[in-house]
Amino acid sequence: MSNATLKELSVRLAAGDCSSVELTQDFTSKINNLGKELGCFITVDAERSLAQAKAADARRAAGDAGPLTGVPLAHKDIFCAEGWLTTCASRMLSNFVSPYDAHVVERCNAAGMVTLGKTNMDEFAMGSSNETSHFGPVRNPWNPETVPGGSSGGSAAAVAARLAPAATGTDTGGSIRQPAALTGICGLKPTYGLVSRYGMIAFASSLDQAGPMARSAEDLGLLLNVMAGHDPRDSTSLERPVEDYNRDLEKPLQGLRIGLPKEFFAEGLSADVRRTVEAAVAEYRKLGATVVDISLPNMGLSVPVYYVLAPAEASSNLSRFDGVRYGHRAAEYTDLLDMYKRTRAEGFGAEVKRRILIGTYVLSHGYYDAYYIRAQKLRRLIAQDFAAAFGQCDVIMGPTSPTTAFKLGEKSADPVQMYLSDIYTIAVNLAGLPGMSIPCGFDGGGLPVGLQIIGNYFDEARMLNVAHQYQLATDWHQKAPGGAQ
Ligand code: GLN
Repeated sequence: MSNATLKELSVRLAAGDCSSVELTQDFTSKINNLGKELGCFITVDAERSLAQAKAADARRAAGDAGPLTGVPLAHKDIFCAEGWLTTCASRMLSNFVSPYDAHVVERCNAAGMVTLGKTNMDEFAMGSSNETSHFGPVRNPWNPETVPGGSSGGSAAAVAARLAPAATGTDTGGSIRQPAALTGICGLKPTYGLVSRYGMIAFASSLDQAGPMARSAEDLGLLLNVMAGHDPRDSTSLERPVEDYNRDLEKPLQGLRIGLPKEFFAEGLSADVRRTVEAAVAEYRKLGATVVDISLPNMGLSVPVYYVLAPAEASSNLSRFDGVRYGHRAAEYTDLLDMYKRTRAEGFGAEVKRRILIGTYVLSHGYYDAYYIRAQKLRRLIAQDFAAAFGQCDVIMGPTSPTTAFKLGEKSADPVQMYLSDIYTIAVNLAGLPGMSIPCGFDGGGLPVGLQIIGNYFDEARMLNVAHQYQLATDWHQKAPGGAQ
């Protein structure tokens, strides 16, 4: 049962083949075994999950079920969930029980979905390997010596290991797409503003966006249908008509123009990833697509621009963690200032401190114009490159990540190497565009490779169509790591 997709579970529940309680028990017992070994979850609470499952079964019996009523999922621990420990994988929030639900959690609950637990992640979503978590690393189910990617590594590993049929994630510079690629699952970062950030612990507010992680494009669409929608509590949430993101799944791809940016296939791309992504593009040609060579000339600036802007916003967002209202507070201190200092010194890990220092520096008087303002100007140029490219093509494709999963510890001593893991994903956040990753093959060592599909603003339905047609013709998305079944 735990190998079924969201779509299949929805059909089985509707047919009365299983109950939500049975499903939930199935997943929670798997989480207690394999989930512990892999470090996927920070918090599980089987009683709470079962209570939700019972309510979902009652709702179905009363004839009041929607497509996902009774279907379980896991939430990244960046989302506030009422009554749940919500830590953002930090020591700072290691004692924080949220008094309210994030918009995303509220929407999933309203749809009747069952929360299986809160997934592990990089501390405050800063990282690409899930090694910065205060609660220890997550292991990749394809090879436990390797990382699952980050920062949504717990969500990705849980879905890959069949511990949850789907999960929520957030993506500031690649944190849905890169772990999806490294664990062989699907993940979608929507257009900025499509999913409300209310109750999602802020990292870099102009880049953060929540999205679905699951095992097929169709499942991503089902979950996005629940997650998206206007919310007046987030001033950047867009007011748009409600859409069915799966409405175009069955459209043939005849005439689709795929743009391949030359910058995505340059130095630094592993030979295995290149070969696999090129094979996926060849499959798309068979499906009737044409390929256009394009260029995104300012791509090379996206990592440096991001590492000015994201830390700047983070330094401001994280200033709220001061030990006064909630979260960790140092046990001993002499006065208020000393309390702040000790609390923050104890409560934040090394990577978070590095970002706060960089952010405070680039925003400081005398450096603001040289770094922050310049980075904002370059951000606009990067967005303009995409606008020009979409004059020539309908979607852009390339690798999601330059390599497959790397070994635990391999990049943790060198932040710049770690930052380069997101070289193909970050520009998409800077431009506010939607992007997704789907599995498209394996490297020589049997580790999954992700194909990135980037769409124009609000083109989620088209992207899901493009991904779904590939998944009808291939079976990479159905491969499971050994032992997951
Ligand atoms: N890896 C990037 C970072 O460390 C992106 C993280 C994210 O998308 N949350 O900032």
